Amino acid sequence: IALCEAKESPPAQPTRAPELRFNWKLFWHFLHPHLLALGAAIVLALGAALVNVQIPLLLGQLVEIVAKYTRDHMGSFVSESRKLSVQLLLLYGVQGLLTFGYLVLLSHIGERMAMDMRKALFSSLLRQDIAFFDAKKTGQLVSRLTTDVQEFKSSFKLVISQGLRSCTQVIGSLVSLSMLSPRLTLMLAVVTPALMGVGTLMGSGLRKLSRQCQEQIARATGVADEALGNVRTVRAFAMEKREEERYQAELESCCCKAEELGRGIALFQGLSNIAFNCMVLGTLFIGGSLVAGQQLKGGDLMSFLVASQTVQRSMASLSVLFGQVVRGLSAGARVFEYMALSPVIPLTGGYCIPNKDIRGSITFQNVTFSYPCRPGFNVLKDFTLKLPSGKIVALVGQSGGGKTTVASLLERFYDPEAGSVTLDGHDLRTLNPSWLRGQVIGFISQEPVLFATTIMENIRFGKLDASDEEVYTAAREANAHEFISSFPDGYSTVVGERGTTLSGGQKQRLAIARALIKQPTVLILDEATSALDAESERVVQEALDRASAGRTVLVIAHRLSTVRAAHSIIVMANGQVCEAGTHEELLKKGGLYSELIRRQTLDASLTSTPP
Ligand code: ADP
Ligand code: MG
Repeated sequence: IALCEAKESPPAQPTRAPELRFNWKLFWHFLHPHLLALGAAIVLALGAALVNVQIPLLLGQLVEIVAKYTRDHMGSFVSESRKLSVQLLLLYGVQGLLTFGYLVLLSHIGERMAMDMRKALFSSLLRQDIAFFDAKKTGQLVSRLTTDVQEFKSSFKLVISQGLRSCTQVIGSLVSLSMLSPRLTLMLAVVTPALMGVGTLMGSGLRKLSRQCQEQIARATGVADEALGNVRTVRAFAMEKREEERYQAELESCCCKAEELGRGIALFQGLSNIAFNCMVLGTLFIGGSLVAGQQLKGGDLMSFLVASQTVQRSMASLSVLFGQVVRGLSAGARVFEYMALSPVIPLTGGYCIPNKDIRGSITFQNVTFSYPCRPGFNVLKDFTLKLPSGKIVALVGQSGGGKTTVASLLERFYDPEAGSVTLDGHDLRTLNPSWLRGQVIGFISQEPVLFATTIMENIRFGKLDASDEEVYTAAREANAHEFISSFPDGYSTVVGERGTTLSGGQKQRLAIARALIKQPTVLILDEATSALDAESERVVQEALDRASAGRTVLVIAHRLSTVRAAHSIIVMANGQVCEAGTHEELLKKGGLYSELIRRQTLDASLTSTPP
């Protein structure tokens, strides 16, 4: 993920940023179930802020009593100050309670919203067209689910809690300031904005530095991620040293940047400390002369000091908040972007042919197709192909000729631009896609993908309500039962992430079992054995031959030895059918197929010739 972000986001951001707008309507959709809680949180936060404004005033009165007592030594200090102290204690208690209340409410709302947003985003991502995923990096999609939702949530919470509090405190304290001493307030009103301006300028420089730091960290993480994730390749090429150096180089520039940031923050902190202290001193000095001139009470000066500190702190946190709001809005825009996107090919809806009527004959009629992410490049041109019910048809041709594309169209991962694909005379576009993929077509590809769960669950992926018995039967059919049973945990063996703990042949047999358990009418084998060694190929081929009996089968292969048994062989070139017939017919014809055969037997004899 980090790798993708580090490499992808710098070029992607500038092109995407301007058009990406925050979707307020969707935000409202997620917010409105929590309006009551939100209202309560706002009221509590406002209350807490107002109490915060009150506290310095009371403190000032208390100081006034202390001052009076030190001056006159008359009456009882305790009895005079008791009422005020109790009031203050009460206010502290109320303030604590209110803070507790609105934080609990906000975290409730924030977490609920984040969960709902993640759910909605995940399900809308899962529903997108395959073409969508061709154009996107998975890492980016996942980071929308994680980082962006997280960022949006914390911004939202901050805006309500801190933003509301800070605003109220600024306004409230300003009111009390001007009531306490208009003159001092005027002085503050001149100095504070100037200081804030300088601070904001420095702050934005620091933020930029911090962003660069983050990017550099992501770059370093990317290097580590790539090296650790592909450790076999690194080992095989003895590249440990080079990877180490690459990581070290990235880390070092990371460290430099971070130190620079650290120095910047230190300078900022030092300067702002000086500024704040000078302001306190200035207030005391000017206020003191007012007190000396009987224009201000000592206690009021105290109140003024505390209140002005509150204003300064609140304004500082508002400026931080502003940056957070900008980040939160753009994170939210990224989260909502794909929620509003609806796929061209729906997942469900459409006709389901009743089980007894399915024959499984398939026709590609004058299909023209180009991938949406590469428009204008026709992978299939006026392509016509018939898969008769219950027969095996082999599709051969050069790599890149469009064979897998044919399979993808049959799965309806894409729709053709012109022409049609039909199943038993029904255009695929009128059929229910989930039913088609889930129950009619079994697809076995060159590189089977397994999920990081048990073998049992992996096979059951083909049919969620399958009984254990059905799983065993499918595994037997796929020549997999034996090797599964030989594992100590049998069917409960957990396969590693992407099935790394199994051999290629074993993975492929699990994939076959997974496809067979749904008893598909149509079977697509896309180079199903071409990644396997000779021995595994034999076992897998045996399973495939058995599975092919009685089904409509499309065998895609470049190794021609595997397609001889097919009822007919189609040779593809340049997105069109250029020859069709049985093995013998095509050999006799002496065209492309016999040329391919000649070349492959030549290769085979060359590689197997004893030295
Ligand atoms: P084959 O299976 O015969 O090797 P494919 O059907 O996989 O060939 O690919 C046919 C052509 O389509 C190739 O030129 C390939 O680069 C292109 N292609 C395949 N998949 C995609 C995709 N998802 N997006 C864009 N182009 C693709
Ligand atoms: Mg292919």
